[in-house]
Amino acid sequence: MAEARELLKKYYGYGDFREGQKKVIASILEGRDTLGIMPTGGGKSICYQIPALMMSGTTIVVSPLISLMKDQVDGLDSIGVPAAYINSSLSYAQVETRIRKAARGEYKLLYVAPERLESERFLELLSELTVPMVAVDESHCVSQWGHDFRPSYMRISELVSHLPVRPQLSAFTATATDQVRDDIVKHLKLREPGVFVTGFARENLSFTVVKGENKRDVLMATIRENGDDSGIVYAATRKEVDQLCEYLLRQGVAAGRYHAGMSDKERAEAQEQFLYDEVRVMVASNAFGMGIDKSNVRYVVHYNMPKNMEAYYQEAGRAGRDGEPSDCLLLFSPQDIHIQKFLIEQSVGDPERQAQEYRRLQLMADYCHTPQCLQRYIVRYFGGDTESDCGQCSNCSSPDLQLTDITLEAQQIFSCVRRMRERFGMTLVASVLKGSRNKKVLELGFDELSTYGLMKQRGEKDIVDLIQMLVAEGYLQLSEGKYPVLKLTPKAGTVLTGEERVVQRVRVKPAAPAVKDVEAELFDALRQLRTEIAKREGIPPYIVFPDSTLREMC
Ligand code: ADP
Ligand code: MG
Ligand code: ZN
Repeated sequence: MAEARELLKKYYGYGDFREGQKKVIASILEGRDTLGIMPTGGGKSICYQIPALMMSGTTIVVSPLISLMKDQVDGLDSIGVPAAYINSSLSYAQVETRIRKAARGEYKLLYVAPERLESERFLELLSELTVPMVAVDESHCVSQWGHDFRPSYMRISELVSHLPVRPQLSAFTATATDQVRDDIVKHLKLREPGVFVTGFARENLSFTVVKGENKRDVLMATIRENGDDSGIVYAATRKEVDQLCEYLLRQGVAAGRYHAGMSDKERAEAQEQFLYDEVRVMVASNAFGMGIDKSNVRYVVHYNMPKNMEAYYQEAGRAGRDGEPSDCLLLFSPQDIHIQKFLIEQSVGDPERQAQEYRRLQLMADYCHTPQCLQRYIVRYFGGDTESDCGQCSNCSSPDLQLTDITLEAQQIFSCVRRMRERFGMTLVASVLKGSRNKKVLELGFDELSTYGLMKQRGEKDIVDLIQMLVAEGYLQLSEGKYPVLKLTPKAGTVLTGEERVVQRVRVKPAAPAVKDVEAELFDALRQLRTEIAKREGIPPYIVFPDSTLREMC
């Protein structure tokens, strides 16, 4: 490792490796196949570049994007590491020249686009090189479970078996789900690999979730606070990207836009403008960012909740790649869940896969509702843990949130869910607890339940918030599918029996004056009216209008 550190200093000018890099590099240097799972910006490139410098021969790097490849090779050139790339932008003669040079050992690293591996002839050419290692960047592309499956990644094991001596393999990704991890090991045929999940804590990032505020106002405030600094605003749909961009331009913000509905030329221009700071705020769909390495992005705002934590962290992680303090803001509204469900339905046919996407979506929603440290939630999600809370996320730093014993409220909610036979969603459960006279509650006779109106002193939205928090903390579970139903978990059981107490960080600030229960008021007013009519006509009130009619009128 001492030699590795010297090379790091000599070529890259960095004093030391990050914790995660150390483990991965040590494993590679021991000669093991290695899978490094690190977040975007975690420093995966160095994990294979430094070992490549220490091995004799040419390390082949499989990398999915032409632009990414060129950046990497230019970067290596500029620090004096001999490297080249081969992709479809080159003529056949150029390819052959590069291969010949590589065969003479003139490059330490040769970047190759996966599509090239489809050609037998190309594989033959490569077999003339001395290849100590094949490094697979963005290796989740080999998995159909990942977000950008590339069939040609399946050819990598072909490449490996074509080489006269089996090289060592290393693979890298920021995607950490078990399925993707298993697929990488399986399809790349890694042999007893060292697997390392590291570096998911990005200390320079402050995470904030904003719920129930006017999104445009919060966005404008964020942009103003950041002055001339660069930021990315992600939105869920092309239409939303267009509308938001126009809105920002009208507000006098130098904004640009980027989504898959634009032409290649338009997109390339937009990207350039952002890179060279001509555009301060990039409003974009999730198509923006892969392959972009702008280090001084000071904030990333998610105008809509993304479909899962992988997508969120990949995008949010584009903030602060230079290590400077940066903000990641997520503007949540319940509508976002519906948008994502719709998108899942549209794009995923296979029911099993759909169920999995719903599960991941739920864990994304849980992030928005957890009272825990957000940084910690992220790290745990990706399979790691941290020693302490970050102290700077919106949950850690909010003065309104305080550890409070909410056992009683939790018990009220759990028993209501149980009384309703675990067959209804959270809105209806909240309505029952609130004692609302809404039609469905009355039709189903839930106003007869002993838990009806148990929490009438709270706002209905407030109750929904509490329920969502209890879901996020694993006391309640939402069934999969389009209309999720609340179920109790064993953890809720221990609270109901009084074995466990629920102590959580909850909002202590007095809730905004409760919105008046309009329905109930209307009902009372109609009843009074009915009494008067009945008196005047001299008939019993129920003849004028039965209660059920009055309720319907509400
Ligand atoms: P990834 O591929 O994981 O998204 P990169 O390899 O592109 O990340 O690295 C992200 C940034 O971190 C780069 O600017 C890189 O130079 C920097 N970096 C990597 N390792 C270190 C280190 N040990 N010390 C300081 N900066 C580093
Ligand atoms: Mg990378
Ligand atoms: Zn925190």
